[in-house]
Amino acid sequence: MTQPTIGLTSRTMPLRATRKQRPTETVTRTYIEAVEYAGALCVLLPNTDPERAEAYLDRIDGLLLTGGDDPDPILFGEEPHPQIDMVDARRDHFEIALIHGARRRGMPIFGICRGVQILNVALGGDIYQDIPSQADSHIQHTQQRLDDGPWHMVEIAENSMLEGILGTRELRVNSFHHQGCRRPGEGLTVCAVAADGVPEALEDPAQKFCLGVQWHAELSGADGEKLFAAFVESARNSFRTASNSGEPPASGR
Ligand code: MN
Repeated sequence: MTQPTIGLTSRTMPLRATRKQRPTETVTRTYIEAVEYAGALCVLLPNTDPERAEAYLDRIDGLLLTGGDDPDPILFGEEPHPQIDMVDARRDHFEIALIHGARRRGMPIFGICRGVQILNVALGGDIYQDIPSQADSHIQHTQQRLDDGPWHMVEIAENSMLEGILGTRELRVNSFHHQGCRRPGEGLTVCAVAADGVPEALEDPAQKFCLGVQWHAELSGADGEKLFAAFVESARNSFRTASNSGEPPASGR
């Protein structure tokens, strides 16, 4: 069976004061394990000039937007909230270029945690910079369990792609975020919400596979495996005929 190639966005670890600590592009191993378990291969997409986004997209079959720092609020026209955490504008701009390019190609996109937030911001949506102080929430979204196990419930929208993949309308998910999607971007619909009304997943019904979840599906056992399997299957179906040639993929696949 063909093994599609998934591009994983990365986190740039900053320059430190010592001579041996240079900026480093990193991907948390659990994402790699989840993609490989689903039958695909992984390549790291380094945070680089957005002008290189198209050339990187030529070489992958699916785009995985991994977790990480908070999106820069200037991207949705806001000043930084007092509770905002680290931002990396360089990563934001590269990922936004990847998202637009992948959508133009109909390439499968799967966003996790920060990934669903940057997907939303890229399409003109906005986010709560800090759920506890902005969302009038009665839910703790920064889970207080010692393990990565499920924490709060989400309600999944009827007839959504997410429901189709998971086969349920209710799911208990892990939660490691202080920010969250607010107004959905163009083309996106909210396909899962927490009990406080904060969106927990967004999808684009007009795309073959464009889904983002606020929880860490790579740490979610069988439910997460279903999501990665569906993502990789979609990437397999759009496997590049020009594989390894370095040529842009033909249209309409
Ligand atoms: Mn949550």
